[in-house]
Amino acid sequence: MKIISTPLELKRYLKTINKTIGFVPTMGALHEGHISLIKEARKQNELVVVSIFVNPTQFSKDEDLDKYPKKDGADKKICEISGVDILFFPNAKDIYGSDEVSLMAPKVRGFVLEGLTRPSHFNGVLTVVMKLLNIVNPTKVYFGKKDAQQLNLISLMVKQLFMSVEIVAVDTVRESDGLALSSRNIYLSKDERKEALKISSALYLARNLITRNILEVEVIKEQMLNSLQPLEIFYVEILNHDFEIIKKVEVGRSLVLVEVRVGETRLLDNIWL
Ligand code: AMP
Repeated sequence: MKIISTPLELKRYLKTINKTIGFVPTMGALHEGHISLIKEARKQNELVVVSIFVNPTQFSKDEDLDKYPKKDGADKKICEISGVDILFFPNAKDIYGSDEVSLMAPKVRGFVLEGLTRPSHFNGVLTVVMKLLNIVNPTKVYFGKKDAQQLNLISLMVKQLFMSVEIVAVDTVRESDGLALSSRNIYLSKDERKEALKISSALYLARNLITRNILEVEVIKEQMLNSLQPLEIFYVEILNHDFEIIKKVEVGRSLVLVEVRVGETRLLDNIWL
């Protein structure tokens, strides 16, 4: 595995190679969720590039940028074992200068759900993903369905800016008890870890109701909100796959999303039904 830390060096190297490229952008502290993206990229492409970059512009001043988990040594080993060809490991100063051009998330879809309480978040996400895609110029790029709003906004960006990369959406990997894997799970104390199970339980509750043909969004949301108590709830929402509001669940075309705070940690999860 080659480790490259500057955009210029990576661009130069990739220019010499005539292969299909699968790209997996991450913020490190890699877990089985990231590994499943890498495995998918490995299956579908001749060359696999993973980036590890904790993007400062998607964190607001009062968020956890400085204490975001760092596991550089373990991450490198995981990438090597998973068959990554190139690990791109830039510094913030390699990616950002001063007085920068940046992207704006769409005014509606970028500022609801997670974007409502983190208003600059998706501007930062879209800007860094655009930069990384321009550096790597991959055939396919891999994102997790767990970050459903991020996936939706990046898909919009690729479509609306007429970009030619193909986006591959990968299913959420969970612990055996249902908790979705997240780099932030390491912040959870033992008790908080137990409380966090309310998130997947609420999603499974929604799935059970829908299986029993209870399809009214308001009815399902109310039961989910009750089951999540006493956690601080940012949102419980049921939308169609295009992130539009619906009144009744249409099986095969709906998405149930939850974001809560457990202790100090924001956790989000969803299921596609
Ligand atoms: P992050 O390092 O948190 O920015 O995540 C990098 C990529 O991994 C994103 O596309 C995430 O959606 C994806 N990802 C994170 N957690 C999971 C998970 N539990 N299952 C599948 N993909 C995930």
